[in-house]
Amino acid sequence: MNVLILGASRGIGLELTRQHQAAGDRVIATARGDEGLKTIQQAGAKPLKLDITDTASTAGLARRLDGESFDTVWLVAGVYGPRSSALQSPTEEEFNTVMHTNVLAAMRVLPIVAEALAPQARIAVISSRMGSISLRSNPSGWLYRASKAALNSLMKDVSLALEGRAICVSLHPGWVRTDMGGTDADIEVEHSVRTMRETVAALTPADNGSFLNHDGERLSW
Ligand code: NDP
Repeated sequence: MNVLILGASRGIGLELTRQHQAAGDRVIATARGDEGLKTIQQAGAKPLKLDITDTASTAGLARRLDGESFDTVWLVAGVYGPRSSALQSPTEEEFNTVMHTNVLAAMRVLPIVAEALAPQARIAVISSRMGSISLRSNPSGWLYRASKAALNSLMKDVSLALEGRAICVSLHPGWVRTDMGGTDADIEVEHSVRTMRETVAALTPADNGSFLNHDGERLSW
């Protein structure tokens, strides 16, 4: 199986790289920094330099992926931004960083990825339950929440555009012990990634455009 992992220097993306490699898949994984690229290489995958917020870097991705045909693509790179509690306005710089990384970058790379897919490929966009409007019970991190709600919206558009060609879903990885999730989080990255891989492997065309928990349970928007 050919796998592309966008954002694999650490955390969930790196664990996806390790598990797909261990399963015998051919993995291309991206990072923006030299250390991340080295880590990917050490995991046995082919490293590709990509800063997901850099216009020139994402434009170069089309050329780098020319001729590739991926069975599974994971869009993982993301930032949380300010750890706001309630109604604290972000600075313009904070807003731009979060929205460019979590939203604009997806709108740039997903059209490129769409040109490099095997038949019935799977595209898994790592979103968050925090982006759900109906499941929301507190207003912490409202910029991050808004960015993941927007990411879910554009995943749906990708799923409609690629209907019949690919199965595209948004996934909540759980609250995971990574740099972003912190040490108090619920689950280990190994468990989150294993269950997400199982969920993605079990997808059928009827799942196209859905929002799923890491264990496959459907989430409301
Ligand atoms: P980490 O903070 O551990 O890792 C974030 C990853 O995103 C790093 O590889 C980082 O690369 C990459 N990244 C950020 N900005 C860019 C950029 N401009 N270009 C390229 N890569 C970039 O987070 P997690 O592994 O926990 O999170 C992965 C995804 O899962 C995110 O989208 C996050 O929102 C989502 N998620 C995580 C949850 C959790 O509990 N951990 C819960 C719900 C969702 P670099 O090393 O260069 O910074």
